Amino acid sequence: MTEDAQRQMQFLYALRSKGVTEARTLSAMERIDRALFVRGIFADRAYEDTPLPIACGQTISQPSVVGLMTQALAISPRDKVLEVGTGSGYQAAILSLLARRVYTVDRYKRLVAEARGVFDALKLTNITAFTADGSFGLPDQAPFDKIIVTAAAEDPPGPLLAQLRIGGIMVLPVGQSDTVQSLIRVNRTESGFEYDELRPVRFVPLVEGIGQD
Ligand code: SAH
Repeated sequence: MTEDAQRQMQFLYALRSKGVTEARTLSAMERIDRALFVRGIFADRAYEDTPLPIACGQTISQPSVVGLMTQALAISPRDKVLEVGTGSGYQAAILSLLARRVYTVDRYKRLVAEARGVFDALKLTNITAFTADGSFGLPDQAPFDKIIVTAAAEDPPGPLLAQLRIGGIMVLPVGQSDTVQSLIRVNRTESGFEYDELRPVRFVPLVEGIGQD
């Protein structure tokens, strides 16, 4: 077996052992090479199940958390998805293989530009990336079947709840501090919102406004 194939097997094994078991999610994660989204000195560690630094002081999430969030969204091929927090673009790339259309926003122009470069190289033409404050969602494109937020807020932002279609699902980390957050899933029903808590996580904070870079 080549070294690459062996690394790939270990990567998938680590995902499964941490609860990423849904076949479509695993196959999307097998097809998107995480190394393309990690630059410089950290590229060597792309296949480790750990978050890594990216530009603008942000992080690319841990692969097992990407997988767990993806499967919690229960994406169908017809879904229109909003991601808040493009970061490296890794999560958006995985979503793009599962959904019809992915909108992703980040407050840093530089991260959006770099992520677009990778989406173009991979010919992922169903992703639209914007620089915007994602706490307001994307009213022009709403409603969304699924929403994923990859930065932590104290509570689910109201505009995002409002932009979720009835029957839709939103997955996001919430918490009062940088250290204690929990990943929650929100289901929008005819009569309101149902919340369940999935697991403890640690994400960078959701910050208001557009970044300087
Ligand atoms: N999903 C990313 C990881 C994102 S890290 C990946 O796969 O690599 C969280 C990102 O959220 C950071 O890039 C940060 O700039 C962004 N962010 C924080 N607050 C935001 C806001 N209000 N609107 C949009 N993006 C925001």
